[in-house]
Amino acid sequence: QNAEPASAALTPMMAQYFEIKAANPGYLLFYRMGDFYELFFEDAEIASAALGIVLTKRGKHLGQDIQMCGVPIHAAQDYLKKLISLGHRVAVCEQVEDPAEARKRGGKSVVKRDVVRLVTAGTLTEDDLLPARGANFLASLAMVRHGETDFALAWGDVSTGETHVADLAAETVSDELARIDPAELILTDAARTALTERHLLPPALVPALSVVAPEAFDSETATERLRQALAGEAVDPTAFSRAARAALGALFAYVEESQKGKAVALRAPTSEDAARLMAIDQATRSSLELVETQRGGQKGSLLSAIDLTVTAAGARLFAGRLAAPLTDAAAINARLDAVERLAGDTMLTGRLRADLKAAPDIARALTRIALERGGPRDLAAIGAGISAAVALGQRLGQAGDLPAELVRISEILAAAPQSLASELALAIDDDPPLMARDGGFVRKGYDGGLDGERALGSETRAVVAALQARLIDETDVRSLKIRHNGVLGYFVEVPAGHGGKLMEEPHRATFIHRQTLANAMRFTTAELADLEGRIARAHEAALEIEARIFAKLCGEVLGRTGELRALADALAELDVASALAHLAGTRGYVRPTVDASLAFHIEGGRHPVVEEMVKGEGQSFVANDCNLSGSSEEGGGLWLVTGPNMGGKSTFLRQNALIAIMAQMGAFVPAASAHIGVVDRVFSRVGASDDIAHGRSTFMVEMVETAAILNRATRRSLVILDEIGRGTATFDGLSIAWATLESLHEATGCRALFATHFHELTSLQKSLSRMANVTMKVREWEGEVVFLHEVGKGAADRSYGIQVARLAGLPEPVLNRARHVLTLLEQRSAGAGPSSAVGGVLDDLPLFAHQPPAPERTGPEPDPVADLIDTIRPDDITPRDAIELLYELKKRR
Ligand code: ADP
Repeated sequence: QNAEPASAALTPMMAQYFEIKAANPGYLLFYRMGDFYELFFEDAEIASAALGIVLTKRGKHLGQDIQMCGVPIHAAQDYLKKLISLGHRVAVCEQVEDPAEARKRGGKSVVKRDVVRLVTAGTLTEDDLLPARGANFLASLAMVRHGETDFALAWGDVSTGETHVADLAAETVSDELARIDPAELILTDAARTALTERHLLPPALVPALSVVAPEAFDSETATERLRQALAGEAVDPTAFSRAARAALGALFAYVEESQKGKAVALRAPTSEDAARLMAIDQATRSSLELVETQRGGQKGSLLSAIDLTVTAAGARLFAGRLAAPLTDAAAINARLDAVERLAGDTMLTGRLRADLKAAPDIARALTRIALERGGPRDLAAIGAGISAAVALGQRLGQAGDLPAELVRISEILAAAPQSLASELALAIDDDPPLMARDGGFVRKGYDGGLDGERALGSETRAVVAALQARLIDETDVRSLKIRHNGVLGYFVEVPAGHGGKLMEEPHRATFIHRQTLANAMRFTTAELADLEGRIARAHEAALEIEARIFAKLCGEVLGRTGELRALADALAELDVASALAHLAGTRGYVRPTVDASLAFHIEGGRHPVVEEMVKGEGQSFVANDCNLSGSSEEGGGLWLVTGPNMGGKSTFLRQNALIAIMAQMGAFVPAASAHIGVVDRVFSRVGASDDIAHGRSTFMVEMVETAAILNRATRRSLVILDEIGRGTATFDGLSIAWATLESLHEATGCRALFATHFHELTSLQKSLSRMANVTMKVREWEGEVVFLHEVGKGAADRSYGIQVARLAGLPEPVLNRARHVLTLLEQRSAGAGPSSAVGGVLDDLPLFAHQPPAPERTGPEPDPVADLIDTIRPDDITPRDAIELLYELKKRR
């Protein structure tokens, strides 16, 4: 930070700068100077480097040059966007009085300045700074100690007002953060430390943290703050838990502070009950690539493949629903009813979608108006939004035969405040300017007084023209012109050669000399000055009237905030329902049967993303069945999937998890038929990835995630496990996979798909009654493998690893050598266990001759690893103990 100034040496402006800077620590200060925002000292260095703009000097401070850089006002948005996206916070400091006032005070008075806005990633409201189709959440995490540590998370989108709160147990914090994916997270230093120590902070969130003082989370202050902020809403703050109040209090305070006293635009918070939502942990979310791929892109994610909404608000709701599928079958079916009705009427849906496309983003326009940051375009957007809603409501209402969800939506749309829309349409001109202060947006005929002033303005211009004609006559200077510029205002201009004439009798009395240029002379006259005054006054008066009209209309809009928000929500819901209907129609998706059973029976299931990719390449996707239906007494079915790499195992596994998620968000699914008993949690461990940021190896990550599954899955869960135990030695891996499989079947009883390379596991079918072996079919043809991508009964007899390696282009000598080794290994293993095969073969293979042979191990001999595994009770184990156990396992090997 900047050095503490020695006040004696300060200019008044610098004193003001330091005062404001000190009041806003941690922010880059955008200090308004005329048409620029200027940054000084260290701020200037940071900003010039981040923005690639020139670093210069302005004056000296304590004998040192003052570093300075500046951005022009008109381009400030772009620079702000860049700085925010790089994780900086900006305080915008404006002149808050007319410079004339300061001059009046005289002496060394500087113009009063104050910070009018703190801009951070979580508190944006400007359209160009916001992701149009995504929510921009500011979240606040409260940590409360009552013997044990509890958390509450509050999150809100300042741009739309949407606000939520949830009480959380420690182990769900990172999953919730991953689901909500906030742009900024407020927390105390203690909470940050606690989360970091326990690996509960998603690494992607680290740059988005805003650490605040513990007082911000005081639950008593919070209660009072909420009472005030939510006055008039039917919400009692004390109904929330203490932790929830603390989180909400910090959230509201932070927003209020950032908007510098403007009305806080957050709505009454809705309490999120985790039990009503399908739990999807962070690892599952990323492995299923729900909203972004594991590489971090949008393209290739489920969201980008199935989101066909046409409005920004619809897209935000769609993403929210996909991130939080429901668990209540009745609520899911209510959504499905709406989609089914619309899917059955493509004509209606097509029209609705066309109308929706024209509906502006009411929620965000409303927020900008509430924060006094709105302009005429926001008013026009609200008017157009209401009109679109009315038209949509009528269209929907006329369709008749609507399910409850659509009736509710059509009623809200029909109740749109049409009179407000008519008023706005009458008042605001087509194509209004961005800013209200420039005027010129009120339609002619709306306000008599305004029209009068404007007429005076234009009439006066006619008078100017007449005056010019008269002056030409009087002076006989044909080239005399009345012109206007910003410095002189109106003036008479004649070519230099004629100037002298006007300065002589009889014109001397009329023309007052103003300026001499190389080839022209400029004058004014008393009459012209008077006219100018009238024009300026008319313009001022018109601006004033427009400002009054703007304020009045904003007031009318804000008076209807509740209705308008309901309207915006209904439009978004209609967009989502018709987008899902359109999706179902164009992709051949079906309505899933969702109920409270433990069924999971998919016929002809497809992967929504891979199917589109495969189709794009002109091929067809092979549909596959999956039946894991179980009963509450016995538990769910478990399929063990074997087959070669590239055979389609992960695709098959993932597609079934995605179908469950889509069904429970209320979407039709890519299948010929689907019957799904509500899934409470989906777990997916597909593919290994190193978690370098946390210093954990692939194997460690895999085991932590597997531990989480074994500890948290219930009979209602759907578990997808792909190749666990690969990251360690064969026997470790096999034994862990083996024990995991048994535990899922015997202890958890969940519905599960388990893909593996350990063919030994297929023999478990004999002892596990609800387990079935399936395999990805392949055909061998002239020594090559052809993947059929078809799931069939039974176990794979071979891995086809060498064939796949050949497809991948491994050099021929290596392939030949591998074939040779394989043949030897296979010969030796006939009749003996795999380890003795290796042990024996090693002697025959010069390649390994320098390594000591692996110790012999045969089946019945005592095995310390297996013994230890026998003692594990996954239900009773904590992730931490699981880790300890793993170290022990490794040691015993
Ligand atoms: P594995 O997990 O067995 O290694 P993947 O599931 O990654 O195999 O599938 C490999 C590739 O095969 C996919 O990228 C896809 O192009 C193709 N594929 C998988 N399943 C199907 C299917 N059912 N129909 C058509 N192509 C498929």
